[in-house]
Amino acid sequence: MPLNAKRRATLSWRTLLPWVVGVLPLMCGLIVMNWQVEREMQTSSQATARQVVAHVERILDSLSKAANVLLPLARSPCDEVQLRLRAEVTRNAFVRSTNLFRGNSLYCTSLFGDFDEPVNPADYVDGKLWLMDGNSVTPGHALLVYRASAGDQGAISTVDGDHLLTALRLIGPDVNLHIRVGNAWMGKDGIVHKGLPPPAANANVLLGSTRYPFSVQGGYDASYQGQLWRSHYPALVALLIVLGVVAALVCRWQVRRASSPRAELRRALEADEFLPYFQPVVRKGDFRWAGAEVLMRWNHPQEGLVRPDLFIPYAEHSGQIVAMTRALMMHTAQSLAPYAGLLEDGFHIGVNITADHCRDLNLLNDCRTFLQHFPPGRVVLTLELTERKLIEPTPIALELFEKLAAMGVKIALDDFGTGQSSLNYLRQFKVDYLKIDQSFVAMIGADALSVHILETIIELSAKLGLGIVAEGVETEAQRDYLARHEVDFQQGYLFARPMPAAQFLEALAARPGAALLPQAAPPEIMRG
Ligand code: C2E
Ligand code: CA
Ligand code: CA
Repeated sequence: MPLNAKRRATLSWRTLLPWVVGVLPLMCGLIVMNWQVEREMQTSSQATARQVVAHVERILDSLSKAANVLLPLARSPCDEVQLRLRAEVTRNAFVRSTNLFRGNSLYCTSLFGDFDEPVNPADYVDGKLWLMDGNSVTPGHALLVYRASAGDQGAISTVDGDHLLTALRLIGPDVNLHIRVGNAWMGKDGIVHKGLPPPAANANVLLGSTRYPFSVQGGYDASYQGQLWRSHYPALVALLIVLGVVAALVCRWQVRRASSPRAELRRALEADEFLPYFQPVVRKGDFRWAGAEVLMRWNHPQEGLVRPDLFIPYAEHSGQIVAMTRALMMHTAQSLAPYAGLLEDGFHIGVNITADHCRDLNLLNDCRTFLQHFPPGRVVLTLELTERKLIEPTPIALELFEKLAAMGVKIALDDFGTGQSSLNYLRQFKVDYLKIDQSFVAMIGADALSVHILETIIELSAKLGLGIVAEGVETEAQRDYLARHEVDFQQGYLFARPMPAAQFLEALAARPGAALLPQAAPPEIMRG
């Protein structure tokens, strides 16, 4: 159905809506998935950091236990307690060495016995914990040192940085983890750095221990989010794309269906899709073409040529028929005027009009413009009003018809016999021709009553001095009958079907004697 067809690609809401409907679920889905990915990273980063904190706390428990056991031995001579120091190293899995200090000097170690090295309490966070980047035994190798003190003496236990490294690497293989002790930190490279670790690009968390002065920082690299997307959601993303495409197609189909007849007609008018077709009207006697009726066709981009009865009712209902008729008259004038030489003087051009045209006087201008395209007297414009929907004799309508008559425009009452026009009506509207409805012509030779009505109409028109046109003439019997009854003009498939302008002009040019007429140009031009 042409009135439901798609509009041409203009950037209207009809074009945009399917895109929006298609893209929206995809966007929403992607936003939800992204939120889920971020939440997942945050949760896992938090959980990993918590596990690392717990593990380091277990290591420090071991260290603090060893240091606290040895604390009462501080100040004892080293050779007396050296074995106790070594025993604590053996007993506690994570302890690498134990040491005793007094004042600012470390005087006894589990490794060497008597020793003498300076100790600075300020190196220890809260006086307890120090992340060292190596000592004299293993320089450059990370070491976590726990200090238990009583006054200016105490015990120190150490754990190898490798234990911390194993915790970082095994507990969170995908997570960026750092252990921070005061102003020092260590990442998965096992090297102790000064300052603060760089924050992670995604899901950065910092979790402090409640029992020891250290914290763990976790998070993910920028690329990890993409990895999660690729591993988690390829099927879901594909499904969303399919859903989006389906939604967009359904929406586009609905928009096409919902395209209002009014909008579709307006579009067609702007696109100049309404064309005049011409059906010749022949005169009695020699049956030469005395004129033609202009019949509207819609050259629809998808549906092809559309018959007027499928769209004229919409055009009338929506008030667009006036603009459409104006465009049709203009088209007709522009098509015929260059070949006006092919037309005999007084050639009738019939144009169908409706009640909408009679609400104001604009039709006068349309008719004047039409006639100005032709040499004076070459063309007689005939307006056809259907008897099916009679025009109200309002003062404006009557003035309009008065002025049309003064301009030389003729009036034909179309489909005559199907309505209830009165003699008064014919006079008021200054009707010149009656066009007998095709249904009566079709009954010639078949229905006695119709034929009787037909004969009455013919007699009536003769008495009123009206010209008479019979339309829908399809057979020779009908033609001969109408000729016998002195019907002035005939129109019908028997003579010619409605045809496009080029074909009409070609047929006019091909008539005997046509070449003698002035201004005749080759109609082939029209085909271009
Ligand atoms: P109409 O004004 O009565 O036009 C005559 C219709 O009869 C045309 O149909 C024509 O093709 C058809 N016809 C002609 N000879 C024969 C024949 O021998 N046998 C049969 N069966 N039909 C024949 P079309 O072109 O489909 O137009 C239908 C109607 O649409 C017209 O009836 C007219 O009421 C309306 N129409 C057409 N063009 C316009 C227009 O520009 N404006 C307005 N308002 N109405 C138009
Ligand atoms: Ca007509
Ligand atoms: Ca008719």
